[in-house]
Amino acid sequence: MSFKELGLSEPLLKAISKKGYETPSPIQAKAIPSVLEGKDVLASAQTGTGKTAGFTLPLLHLLSENPKEKYRPIRALILTPTRELAAQVFANVKEYSEFLNLRSAVIFGGVNQKPQIATIRKGVDVLVATPGRLLDLQNQGALSLKRVEIFVLDEADRMLDMGFLRDIERVMKLMPDKRQNLLFSATFSKDIKKLAYSILNNPVQVETARQNTAVEVIDQKVYRVAKGKKTGLIIKLISEGNWNQVLVFTRTKHGANKLCKKMISAGISAAAIHGNKSQGARTKALAGFKNGSVRVLVATDIAARGIDIPLLPHVINFELPNISEDYVHRIGRTGRAGAEGQALSLVSADETSYLKGIEKLIGESIEVEIVEGFEPDPNASTAPIKPGQNRNQNKGRRTNNRNSNSKGSGNNRNSNRNKSRNRNRNNDSTRN
Ligand code: ADP
Ligand code: MG
Repeated sequence: MSFKELGLSEPLLKAISKKGYETPSPIQAKAIPSVLEGKDVLASAQTGTGKTAGFTLPLLHLLSENPKEKYRPIRALILTPTRELAAQVFANVKEYSEFLNLRSAVIFGGVNQKPQIATIRKGVDVLVATPGRLLDLQNQGALSLKRVEIFVLDEADRMLDMGFLRDIERVMKLMPDKRQNLLFSATFSKDIKKLAYSILNNPVQVETARQNTAVEVIDQKVYRVAKGKKTGLIIKLISEGNWNQVLVFTRTKHGANKLCKKMISAGISAAAIHGNKSQGARTKALAGFKNGSVRVLVATDIAARGIDIPLLPHVINFELPNISEDYVHRIGRTGRAGAEGQALSLVSADETSYLKGIEKLIGESIEVEIVEGFEPDPNASTAPIKPGQNRNQNKGRRTNNRNSNSKGSGNNRNSNRNKSRNRNRNNDSTRN
């Protein structure tokens, strides 16, 4: 199967070959024909499988087929959960539309709105946006969604995790009823199905990877270590391994900053990205990481979600996430496009229950190693990280911790988790 056989127009084929893609990825091969037919599509495939082009290419094809008006209303809206993702999707839209007469723009919070408004005023066909800034500008009368023909919800699972359900519903009310809807997601949960049901009309469902499976080419390993020795161990691993592009996850923003400082003191160039950083700082950190001037990028789950760094060799969980699905998302940053990747986790006694949850989700037990001089503390409690700890960064987690001790059914626990996560995200004014 080639991109040409999928029915994409010449200007798009030209942009695709300029980008260096030879064949469509499985999810692209499945999704593109249905989108081109004008159908609503529900697509789920793992992170890193090329979902962006899966909706962007046919969307651009459809828009360019219809005549443009002199006054350009927004005809396609792509919603994404984070600023980074919005910027990335926009960069893709730009590249793929290079040989088409279409205009696009991106809007997200955390930066001055004036240039965004000015760009939209000039007329754009495709708008990429995070929900908060979109609704904000719409309220100010700076944009109208009344002429949207195609609506894309990207990273829909993350949207829900971040508590954007209400915002999505608000956005839907601003668009005409008759439109094409595309929903893309890395995972395919009950909540996603429910959301899909409310947004999509008679959707074609396309799916590639089984949900929640860890990519097989990823080599996973757990280092059992005393909590206080984690920093020493991670520095040892990175310096002795001579690793040059390492993505490190911490549970909290504060933890990310702290670890970043320690790395720098140890002579390892590092930068942190999380919701408290300004957009400029985040963009700069990401650019430095991509071009190799920054060896280690320390990130929280929200900040890292959806970031596209091809062929990332090493992902390290400095702390395990307390939501097992986040582990799968985190390690999805490595081993892309068939290249081998390594996902390491530093696990202290109080993370034992998180590790069990993760192993249950991925259906395998992860190989354990202990490094001399960095042994686990035999006297440390295996009780999960105490409620109230990191209160400032993670208000919602307190409920989670209590839940992970309870004996309730898995389903109940999950829905409680989501509720508390949503509450957490809703209170987070820095979310986009
Ligand atoms: P997802 O949204 O599924 O997580 P992305 O759309 O961000 O994945 O794509 C992941 C990476 O794969 C990007 O670097 C992208 O440029 C690349 N990619 C996408 N489609 C193809 C293709 N057909 N051939 C080769 N690389 C591709
Ligand atoms: Mg994506």
